[in-house]
Amino acid sequence: MAEKIVEGVWWIPGQDEFLPDSHMYVIGAPGSEDFSLIDCGLMGKGEYKLAEIDGLGIAYDKVKRIIMTHTHLDHIGCLPELLSAIPHAEVWIHEEEARYLKRGDERVVYGNSVFQSMVRAQYDIPKEHFCVNVRRTLQGNEEISLGEIEFKVIHVPGHSAGCIGLFNEERRLFLSGDTIYADGAIGRYDLVSADPAQLRRSLESIAELGIDVLLPCHNRIVKANAAPMIRQTVEQWAPFLTS
Ligand SMILES: [Zn+2]
Ligand SMILES: [Zn+2]
Repeated sequence: MAEKIVEGVWWIPGQDEFLPDSHMYVIGAPGSEDFSLIDCGLMGKGEYKLAEIDGLGIAYDKVKRIIMTHTHLDHIGCLPELLSAIPHAEVWIHEEEARYLKRGDERVVYGNSVFQSMVRAQYDIPKEHFCVNVRRTLQGNEEISLGEIEFKVIHVPGHSAGCIGLFNEERRLFLSGDTIYADGAIGRYDLVSADPAQLRRSLESIAELGIDVLLPCHNRIVKANAAPMIRQTVEQWAPFLTS
């Protein structure tokens, strides 16, 4: 079930099965008529999320964009399903990963070639299925207004090259994608375009933000005073994150 985190930010939890399914966040002040979806989920996991959006009373024509924290399969898997229901929604992706998709290169989506052949056969996914039309490529440091709620785009490479986080300073709220989770966990750093030393620097920059509300794309979320946990997680992982 969708849960309101703060005014204008809803959480639609992922439904993991054999493979993980990313959470989705829905952003936009209720009266704004401008809503954004952050991340989608695994193949087949679009339908229930669309029903949840409907249940929030948000008409699909008010969903203006889908922003990807990165393009791993468990996040982008049901993007095509969402776009067939909401074809006018713009897709925004960081340039480091948009670049792969624009040239028909899905190596970041699947992360490694063994997983790619296994999953494409199992789900019967055609080639270039995820090479969607990216309407806006992000660089990091943009100040964006999402339905009257202000966010700064923060480029946090390491888990993959084009990972971003979205930071709302007013609430000290951070959507962290797969870079850092609750409970001392961080994103894996062994897949295509990952870089452990970059991940360490990204984690350190996240620790500097002074985050209260941590909204990752898997598992638990943290609704208050996340900063000490984040600091501890970053310090604990730093010695392992060397190139
Ligand atoms: Zn990921
Ligand atoms: Zn993920």
